[in-house]
Amino acid sequence: MAIERTFSILKPDATRRNLTGAVNALIEAAGLRIVAQKRVLLSRAQAETFYAVHKARPFFGELVESMIAGPIVVQVLEGEDAIKKYREVLGATDPSKAAEGTVRKQFALSVGENSAHGSDSPENAAIEIAQFFSGNEIVG
Ligand code: UDP
Repeated sequence: MAIERTFSILKPDATRRNLTGAVNALIEAAGLRIVAQKRVLLSRAQAETFYAVHKARPFFGELVESMIAGPIVVQVLEGEDAIKKYREVLGATDPSKAAEGTVRKQFALSVGENSAHGSDSPENAAIEIAQFFSGNEIVG
């Protein structure tokens, strides 16, 4: 299996409750390496761009508000099959459908405030990483 990189966000509901370390422990326990990480506050424009694919959806406004409600932690994760593996660590988008032991099962407050984001494809991972990190900020 190939070594991949994926993009992760620990969302404002997670940073607000001081869960950065708890989520990172699950990431590292799954064998993923955090090769870049920083805490930032998204602008409204950045949040709208990041979730542009959902612009027409009824939850878009609420999603953008929740993403700018406080600091986020953006990360690059590296490892074998990292994109799929991190989606498994996160669990289903809706926490009531997420498997035991996943980030969202343990920590998510709702479908919207579901604690973390992970890229869903290699193409999106590359786009999302480039939105937040320059090459020399990622140290594998
Ligand atoms: N979301 C929401 N309501 C929904 C579906 C999604 O608020 O009915 C939010 C949720 O925060 C989710 C994000 O929009 O994480 C992006 O949705 P997507 O379907 O891409 O889920 P993900 O890839 O994050 O699991």
